[in-house]
Amino acid sequence: METILLTEEEKNKIFPYKKIFIFSTILKDLFNNYFNYRQYKRLNENRPIPKELVPLGLDQKKHEESNKYSKAKLKYSIISSILPNIIDLLIIYFDLYPIQYNYSKKACSYFYFNPEKEYGPLMMFIIFELIRSEIVSLPFEVYETFVLEEKFGFNKTTVKTFITDQIKTFCLFSIFLPPIIAILVYIIIKGGKYFYIFTEIFFIVLVFVFMWVYPNFIQPLYNKFKELEDGELKDGIFNLAKSLDYPLKKIYEMDNSTRSAHSNAYLFGFGKNKRIVLFDTLIKKLETKEIVSVLGHELGHWKKSHFIFNMLFIFTYFFILFYLLQFFMYEKNIFISFGFTQKSAFIGLFLFFQIYSPASYFINILQFFMTRKFEYQADNFACEIGYGEQLKSSLTKLSEENKSSLDPDPLYSMVNYSHPTLIERVRAINNYLELKNKKN
Ligand SMILES: [Zn+2]
Repeated sequence: METILLTEEEKNKIFPYKKIFIFSTILKDLFNNYFNYRQYKRLNENRPIPKELVPLGLDQKKHEESNKYSKAKLKYSIISSILPNIIDLLIIYFDLYPIQYNYSKKACSYFYFNPEKEYGPLMMFIIFELIRSEIVSLPFEVYETFVLEEKFGFNKTTVKTFITDQIKTFCLFSIFLPPIIAILVYIIIKGGKYFYIFTEIFFIVLVFVFMWVYPNFIQPLYNKFKELEDGELKDGIFNLAKSLDYPLKKIYEMDNSTRSAHSNAYLFGFGKNKRIVLFDTLIKKLETKEIVSVLGHELGHWKKSHFIFNMLFIFTYFFILFYLLQFFMYEKNIFISFGFTQKSAFIGLFLFFQIYSPASYFINILQFFMTRKFEYQADNFACEIGYGEQLKSSLTKLSEENKSSLDPDPLYSMVNYSHPTLIERVRAINNYLELKNKKN
């Protein structure tokens, strides 16, 4: 690590990176809360339920109930994001990260690591950061699970499960995150001028390893999986997979009901070894044909190669970030501006992602445009193979069970939802079915 020396003239001309960061973070939060405010107003307006939803079994009373839940959720999300954001800004404003980094170095020498090398301090720094974020987020998570979700009947977690989940997650992060970041820093240092090519390769490998590790080793730490029992549902799903040439090997049922009443289904696996997971809550709530229609939608994602597009998006996005990193990584103004007196590759990386974080909010919004388009395409696919009506009733039942907002503010849903809303999807399916009827 190299100490930064500045001439008198340079000292007077430090570019105010920190001030720009704080300003843009506040701006982003104001921007986000403007949409929250719009949604809050909308929920208070007592609007009538969209008429297309009435034939699907929803009514004004259910609409109002879901508004109540949406309002409670929204209030919670505003408070739970504002407080940690304020803490983060105060840490930056008072230059507490340099102090945390110095303590990381001290802790290193305590464990007989060389504090002047990159790797020891960075691992300590990450562990401190994980502990700090756990302390900040824990009270919110307790409130969300045991007060908010409990009040609306969604919480099925016991205190014991909650605590062991927290410990498992903390341990997983503490074990895997520091070495991954250390390898990344090593690649940056050794990669020289074109390090961004090597970091990109590392990132791609990491994503694929994670896609294999997560469902096979991490998810089973939290949930139990058992093979779906023989019967109408299993046959229905296998027949659907076969008709679409989907190389389905196994179907699992996951015990989500031990934690929450929310339900879902997903596909995973590489090549010819594909598997489907159904939440037990989904099996309980939907009829056989409806579950098959949900999988028709999921298989639509697969048929239309959405997974590949998503990967391409993420890989390109990170390539651009790694490429930009080279211009900021060793910029001494950034280090000085954030209160550091020594240059290090890790801190360069850390500060780059801090400065960049307000921009990531807008990239997310962009990504939602893409994911929503894919959702419509997958819905259309389910309609194409004859599951339009069943899909509509499944989506309605799931939305009803989840108490999703039935008529949210359009701008709010644009910046917050990765999926189109129920009413948008029902309208799109109705249009599709109408066109199909006209053609026949
Ligand atoms: Zn989907």
